[in-house]
Amino acid sequence: MERDPAESDGELTSLGAGRGRMVPVDPFDPVLGPVTEGPVVGGPAPVAVDDPAGAVVVDGRPGEACGVFGVYAPGESVDHLTYRGLYAVQHRGQEAAGMAVSDGDSITVVKDMGLVTNVFNERNLAPLTGHLAIGHTRYSTTGASVWRNAQPIYRGVGDAEFALGHNGNLTNTAELAEGLGVFPGTVQSDSDIVAELIQEAIVAAGAGARSDGRDLERALMTVLPRLKGAFSFVLMDEAHVVGVRDPNGFRPLCLGRLDSGWVLASETPALDIVGAHFVRELEPGEMVVIDTTGTRSIHPFPAGRINPKLCLFEFVYFARPDSILYGQTVHSARQRMGELLADQSPLPTEPVDPASPLGEAMVMPVPESGIPAAEGYARRSGIPFGHGLVKNRYIGRTFIVPSQDQRSQGVRMKLNPIRDNIVGKRLVVVDDSIVRGTTTRAMVAMLREAGAAEIHLRISSPPYRWPCFYGMDTGTRAELLAADLTVPQVREYLGCDTLAYLDLDRLLTATGAASSGFCAACITGAYPVAIPGMKPPGPPAPEILPLAEQLAVDPVHPCG
Ligand code: SF4
Repeated sequence: MERDPAESDGELTSLGAGRGRMVPVDPFDPVLGPVTEGPVVGGPAPVAVDDPAGAVVVDGRPGEACGVFGVYAPGESVDHLTYRGLYAVQHRGQEAAGMAVSDGDSITVVKDMGLVTNVFNERNLAPLTGHLAIGHTRYSTTGASVWRNAQPIYRGVGDAEFALGHNGNLTNTAELAEGLGVFPGTVQSDSDIVAELIQEAIVAAGAGARSDGRDLERALMTVLPRLKGAFSFVLMDEAHVVGVRDPNGFRPLCLGRLDSGWVLASETPALDIVGAHFVRELEPGEMVVIDTTGTRSIHPFPAGRINPKLCLFEFVYFARPDSILYGQTVHSARQRMGELLADQSPLPTEPVDPASPLGEAMVMPVPESGIPAAEGYARRSGIPFGHGLVKNRYIGRTFIVPSQDQRSQGVRMKLNPIRDNIVGKRLVVVDDSIVRGTTTRAMVAMLREAGAAEIHLRISSPPYRWPCFYGMDTGTRAELLAADLTVPQVREYLGCDTLAYLDLDRLLTATGAASSGFCAACITGAYPVAIPGMKPPGPPAPEILPLAEQLAVDPVHPCG
């Protein structure tokens, strides 16, 4: 069982009370972290600083939406394996982290707000003994960024217990909540709804009635077909670890093999870090059950719902470069994006200002996101690669700034120019995406101030025009810079001399898996799973204009 430290009445409030233990982390002790086992310490739950009223999304990119990990390994320290696995998927969520461990008798959960390294230490890992575990790193896309919504979610149903970790967003949460008779506003998150549905299904079947230990598996067979949207789950009861990928496979999930067991993870680097061999990616619509007998592959969804649509932005930005998706190494795919971008949108052969001499050219990345594509661009174009910006690696995703005037200073906290490498040069600046554009605009201004002669921005993905409903935090359509702007208008706003986005066909080619099936809804507006209440997209998004046309519209534009 688990409790929110914010609750101080001493009573359990979850719908089911089981035999599990919650090992709390004291939010008030920054040094010791977890201090007790048993009744949860009171006090307010920490709240993330991502406050829309005052925070700037420094990255200017969509936020990831959770990483998951699961392990079944008798004889191993599954708590340490899970800790390492979560560390490897930390990039997918930095707001909260947690793990659930079972010794075959009961499930123990530890979770809290913060990074994996903040949440766990030897003291709170020590009681987590067992041979199976799941873990989760959270970035909130539904539900508030508060302790209560940290995962794994735990439920106890009579003698049965289970825990759940979710990556993705459901699109029919309201409908499911209504079916459960949940009062509007009382649902914490879509993941919470799934836990309630599973609990309801276990109760309906009579928990433990058949004594075959497959209550969770049976419940999932009835619940999963009712879910719509994006979900890669790891689940566990006292004896099984289960991985599930939705019928579209929006979010990745892979299976690895240890000498003594099996591992599930959002991305393959989590297998590497625990010494597991990559076996395969789970198929869209597949459920894998791991227990003492090995692995079983089950297909709970009707065949007609299977339609592979891996998130294209996993390749562009979200996944780690050392991940393998659709059998392709992400880093190599990103380099190919840069190569194809160089073919599609080369550096103009003439200076932007005909009166100026043709300066020395340099391809530079926006660190760190643009590095592989910049390498590819430089390799294909023959233009030297160099660095023009240094990134402060220790800055968080967001931080509070009190006024508009200070926002450009906020960007300077993250990026700083290397002036000697920039002065007088024609810069080809390569990045992987532009979402809101705030950071990019400030960066262009910064490069101009540092003495760049020309700034040619090259983006290794098409314009991001539609919000994501499948587990990525892109903000609303109104927040997307390119939502209703043509490429020349975007360029004008950003203040660069030329701007080009990689077109969709080339991006798909660059993945090396173009025929495998991708979601590109944030580019095209064509959502693979309907979004309730959303009108179909209007006319096709404005075509990406050829470079010559951009130059004809407004060849030189000072930074703004
Ligand atoms: Fe990925 Fe975009 Fe589809 Fe969301 S809408 S799943 S970010 S491709």
